[in-house]
Amino acid sequence: MRETRTKKTKTVCTFCGVGCTFEVWTKGRKILKVQPTHEAPVNAISTCVKGKFGWDFVNSEERLTKPLIRKNGRFVESSWDEALDLVASRLASIKQQYGGNSVGFISSSKITNEENYVIQKLARQMFETNNVDNCSRYCQSPATDGLFRTVGMGGDAGTIKDIAAAGLVIIVGANPAEGHPVLATRVKRAHKLHGQKLIVADIRKNEMAERSDIHISPKQGTDQVWLMAVTKYMIDHGWHDQEFINENVNFFDDYKEVLEKYTLEYAETHSGISRETLIQIAETIRDADGTCILWGMGVTQNTGASDTSAAISNLLLATGNYRRPGAGAYPLRGHNNVQGACDMGTLPTWLPGYQHVTDDVARAKFEKAYGVKIDGQPGLNNIEMLKAIEKGDMKAMYLVGEDMALVDADANHVDKVLSGLDFFVVQDIFLSRTAQYADVVLPGAPSLEKDGTFTNTERRVQRLYKALPTMGDSKADWEITQEIANRLGANWNYSHPSEIYDEMASLSPIFSQANYEVLEGWNSFLWGSHDGSSTPLLYVDGFNFPDKKARFALADWVEPHKFPEEYDLHINNGRMLEHFHEGNMTNKSNGIQSKVPDIFVEVSPELAKERKVSDGGLVRLVSPFGAVKLKALITDRVKNNELFLPMNSVDKDSAINFLTGPIYDRRTSTPAYKQTMVRMEVL
Ligand code: SF4
Repeated sequence: MRETRTKKTKTVCTFCGVGCTFEVWTKGRKILKVQPTHEAPVNAISTCVKGKFGWDFVNSEERLTKPLIRKNGRFVESSWDEALDLVASRLASIKQQYGGNSVGFISSSKITNEENYVIQKLARQMFETNNVDNCSRYCQSPATDGLFRTVGMGGDAGTIKDIAAAGLVIIVGANPAEGHPVLATRVKRAHKLHGQKLIVADIRKNEMAERSDIHISPKQGTDQVWLMAVTKYMIDHGWHDQEFINENVNFFDDYKEVLEKYTLEYAETHSGISRETLIQIAETIRDADGTCILWGMGVTQNTGASDTSAAISNLLLATGNYRRPGAGAYPLRGHNNVQGACDMGTLPTWLPGYQHVTDDVARAKFEKAYGVKIDGQPGLNNIEMLKAIEKGDMKAMYLVGEDMALVDADANHVDKVLSGLDFFVVQDIFLSRTAQYADVVLPGAPSLEKDGTFTNTERRVQRLYKALPTMGDSKADWEITQEIANRLGANWNYSHPSEIYDEMASLSPIFSQANYEVLEGWNSFLWGSHDGSSTPLLYVDGFNFPDKKARFALADWVEPHKFPEEYDLHINNGRMLEHFHEGNMTNKSNGIQSKVPDIFVEVSPELAKERKVSDGGLVRLVSPFGAVKLKALITDRVKNNELFLPMNSVDKDSAINFLTGPIYDRRTSTPAYKQTMVRMEVL
């Protein structure tokens, strides 16, 4: 029967890590409007353009509504039974022939916490492998790693309210005005109305840079240098917090030795930031009542990404900017559920709730619950899985909600690797670029069609409620994973995501006091407390090490990757306000796509003049790894030999990853997307 009543359902926005909540008004499958309310803990009555107008994609005719099986080179619609039986039998036979480690599992920051939990459980229980990862490998893993090394936890130190309350906000390599708009609004307001100081370090003159008190454009890959020089300068002048360090931090003397060479002169030479500006930054930190540092992919997609994240944390530790409101480290999570996917253990090194796979006690707990032996060695991450496929060690992959062939670096190479799998299952809501390599495609469901929880950038877990029925024969992703597991011999009986959440919380001390009752309606839960209760501020009881003391990470800067001289232009990439990441949801939302249909490369006026590039004219960009062809947009947001390419393209002719290469963060394997050089041909 056709639905004629208007229904209001609380949901959580899927378009960035801010975690705005609102009511979506629907009639049948029609989305009438999105209405934020004062009850929303993060955004109250604010949303950005994506949250307001980005939802048409759920009714797109391109949605997958039936399972597909490749037969004679073509996808053919099938029944669920046929598709799931095939998936289970092929995965089982590959496991039997080559072992559980021959199968890889890739999860997503777009799906719910519960769905992430069951994917890691499928890997660990039914395949006894830790070869499970999620798409935070492409963005936030280095930030998490840098924080684990220094303060022992990977989450934001406080809440978005803390950022707004800080005396000084420093943004490094991020553009929250477009990537995290509602959070950026809080900073803009505090800066404009409440005297908050703002420093922005970004190659591009983005909106936050335009508003800032100090904007610096360090040379690509040199943020660690200026951060360490400022730290050294402050220590040399006695502007650090010795009392805080004595009580809370180890290895100060060792860190001072590492800092020895990071003089203002050294920093000026390598980063291009003048000594006067570095002194001005140090003075601003000294004078501020609380400093928060926010950072994004301008930091984390570099060869020294984890070390730069650690340098940020070191600066905060040296100046006593932890363990109090209005201070601390704030990695800006990009996707809506980057934090949650990692919390749930879809990582090769961590079981749910950040219990390390090498921790015998933690592993024993999961072994008892799952009734299997879990490998005590970390598994392979996304990047290592691709290498294992190339070597012939990985034969099959189950990938959920991630367009790997578009978002991984060196896309031309990824294409070749994925076509080498013996068996490939892709679960998504659209026939993604990656799905073209699949043997079976399973139709999952978007957030509006399911219950569950997401966790935003400030560690806040929030409920989303099912607003729409699933489309066609598609199913909630957790249901599909459960059906695969049971066909492989598991005995899972989850009838609702709340049961999955309860199981996860029973095994994860930091979530022990969280459940669906606590999370009901507009309520939320911020993980991070030792007793498993909700906490807005991390490290209240000390840092997450056995002696409760943080540690200065002793990491030296290493020069970024060098390209041959013919590649003379640096190409940066990032988000646009209107589009979501690679764009394959918002480009199917008419309200967004009709306003912002085109992709372009930003060219500086001086470069345009020198190379005779006209505004709107076509250029071809060539890197050692591929080429793209697109229109030029001449703008002073970029300067000199800098180019900027928005990342929201699904087209081989304009997607950034047909230029990026196999260059990675030294510790986490996150691709150094930001270290890409090209040459430009004017067409
Ligand atoms: Fe959605 Fe982020 Fe915009 Fe909020 S700021 S409405 S979470 S895209």
